[in-house]
Amino acid sequence: MTAPKLELIGLRKEYDDGAVVAVDGIDLQIAPGETVALLGPSGCGKSTTLNMVVGLEDPSGGDIRIDGSSVVGVPPGKRNVGLVFQDYAVFTHMSVGRNLSFGLEVAGLGRAEITQRVGEVAELLGLGDMLREKAATLGGSQLQRVAIGRTLVTRPALLLLDEPLSNLEAEARLAMRRELRRLQSETGLTIVYVTHDQTEAISLANRIAVMSNGRIRQFDATQTVYDDPAHVFVAGFIGSPAMNLVKGDLKSDPAGPVFVRDGLQVGLQHRFVDRMPPHPTRVVLGFRPDAVRLSDKAGTGLPGRVTLVAPRGPEAVVSLDVHGIEITAIVPAIGRPDDGAEVAVEIPPEACVLFSTETGRNLSTGEPLGAAA
Ligand code: ADP
Repeated sequence: MTAPKLELIGLRKEYDDGAVVAVDGIDLQIAPGETVALLGPSGCGKSTTLNMVVGLEDPSGGDIRIDGSSVVGVPPGKRNVGLVFQDYAVFTHMSVGRNLSFGLEVAGLGRAEITQRVGEVAELLGLGDMLREKAATLGGSQLQRVAIGRTLVTRPALLLLDEPLSNLEAEARLAMRRELRRLQSETGLTIVYVTHDQTEAISLANRIAVMSNGRIRQFDATQTVYDDPAHVFVAGFIGSPAMNLVKGDLKSDPAGPVFVRDGLQVGLQHRFVDRMPPHPTRVVLGFRPDAVRLSDKAGTGLPGRVTLVAPRGPEAVVSLDVHGIEITAIVPAIGRPDDGAEVAVEIPPEACVLFSTETGRNLSTGEPLGAAA
């Protein structure tokens, strides 16, 4: 079977007569064989979205199309969609083999067909020599493999994974990530992967849909989401530590556009000149911690005081107080400043992006800054 494409169109889910909007009209087009991560903090609507795709919840509005046909109203068992939860849903009193075959027996498949499917999936997931073992004796990552296996024996065209690794220890999680990548390439399934963990999303997905408050803030290739955040939420969520975000005023200065907040003044690139508003406008300035440069030469940047230095391998995360504003920098561990040091802080204009204080959108390209902000 070829993998299907999945389209979500204006998909919406309300609870409690509209008092809770869990999913607020999302549009998403997932190509056949693609792995997409839905990434966002707890409560942003990820699970509700998956539950609607698999058919456990009915949408309040919008449509779900698999290969162009709407599946809204189609019973879960008839959608050819498999869902794996973080709680393993494995019968621990049964053997691994029985766990894999049970659903197929209930569905009334013949013995030969069941044996063949269980054999294929067991081989794919490296469970072949464990089929007789009681599930109760298995560790977390093996249990999770059995849970995935129980779904795969039903031969879904679309596989949905809801935080599948969040109950695993760090080492098992890394191993399962590798397993999932192999599974992707060997099965060619279309996969939607829900996680709140950006590292997991980045390591597994072709594209990431970043969600907050029931909406998709950006749907792009993983690198684009980092390099070019379309929304202030994405900028503040992706990256470790995330982008520095400072609210202030955008003004025209004889020397060019400038961002001002109290004593903090940051010169911006001249690409903003043609789009500058006639009057000062409130904006959010964003710049990545690794773009900030520190030196001990007074006068080469903004005066800052180091409030905390957190070494992390070859680099150090440095917290700074610049005119009462907290700024984070990432610098090489060798030559890092000491706690309490007075340093010159340079924020390169080419690293700066601007976001609207009203819509949260990235203002660095396109529309006039005044009108959009
Ligand atoms: P996530 O998976 O991103 O953590 P969810 O999809 O579980 O988020 O939840 C999104 C929002 O919808 C949350 O505010 C949650 O409290 C709410 N919600 C989810 N299910 C229900 C329900 N059955 N009744 C009322 N509110 C719900």
